[in-house]
Amino acid sequence: MKRTLQDYKSAIAPIWCAGCGDYGVLQSLQKALLELDIPPEEIISISGIGCSGRISHFINSYSLHGTHGRAVPTAIGAKTARPDLTVLALGGDGDGLGIGGGHIPHAARKNIDITYLLIDNRIYGLTKGQTSPTSPLGQKTKTAPFGAYEDPMEPLPIFLSYGVSFVARASGLNAKEMQQIMKEAIAHKGMSIVYIQTPCKTFPVIDPKAIKELFQPLPEDHPRDNKMKAIELAFSQKPLYTGVFYQEQRPTLEDRLQTIMQTASKKNEGGKAYSVEQILKSYA
Ligand code: SF4
Repeated sequence: MKRTLQDYKSAIAPIWCAGCGDYGVLQSLQKALLELDIPPEEIISISGIGCSGRISHFINSYSLHGTHGRAVPTAIGAKTARPDLTVLALGGDGDGLGIGGGHIPHAARKNIDITYLLIDNRIYGLTKGQTSPTSPLGQKTKTAPFGAYEDPMEPLPIFLSYGVSFVARASGLNAKEMQQIMKEAIAHKGMSIVYIQTPCKTFPVIDPKAIKELFQPLPEDHPRDNKMKAIELAFSQKPLYTGVFYQEQRPTLEDRLQTIMQTASKKNEGGKAYSVEQILKSYA
């Protein structure tokens, strides 16, 4: 039977504020999964803490709303145990770039085949409007009443230099393009990140009207395999390019583990095959 969008919606209705950008991200993701025709029972969605971290509740899949900043390492564990499933990690800027920021380079080194949707509204919304790693310098927040006093992070060039094998930016205000980028990211073999910029309605940092004018699709002839060009374009502030900055194919963690397992199961120098029992006995 042909699946419909309803098949990707859980029984739990979202409880975000009216007008929150996370609604659009959720719907684009559900549409992308439908278009890719991935059975809901073959999807694992794992999220961290924050408003956008709630998203895993609303997708009809195996889901885990985990601990703060740990969506990526949990997704690594899930994919390693079940490489046959589609594994999604989801969360916001505070979750993914603050407390969880140290996990991204190691996921990139592994090139594990997961998709990370990093949803950036440049503020901690769930905890009522505190400065996040991407809050603009001078932005007044609950924790910086005289204005943010640290420079904001630039996530895209960081992801590119970490070696993430698929790096894209999407505007939360352009649902159609966001959906297409998500589809490509999920279909990519290896670590993919879609950096989604979308406004928080209740604690606004991003002015939807102003930022909409800044977004511009990457040039049609942008070479996806040119990392230096990707980094150059990723630093641009005017315009803020959307689309796939970089994509490369290289062995995934699953490929490499498979090779190691095959080698380990072959005969060792002593003429005996390795087995768990033998290894355990060697410690006896
Ligand atoms: Fe969305 Fe902001 Fe409300 Fe959180 S506080 S649900 S990010 S509008």
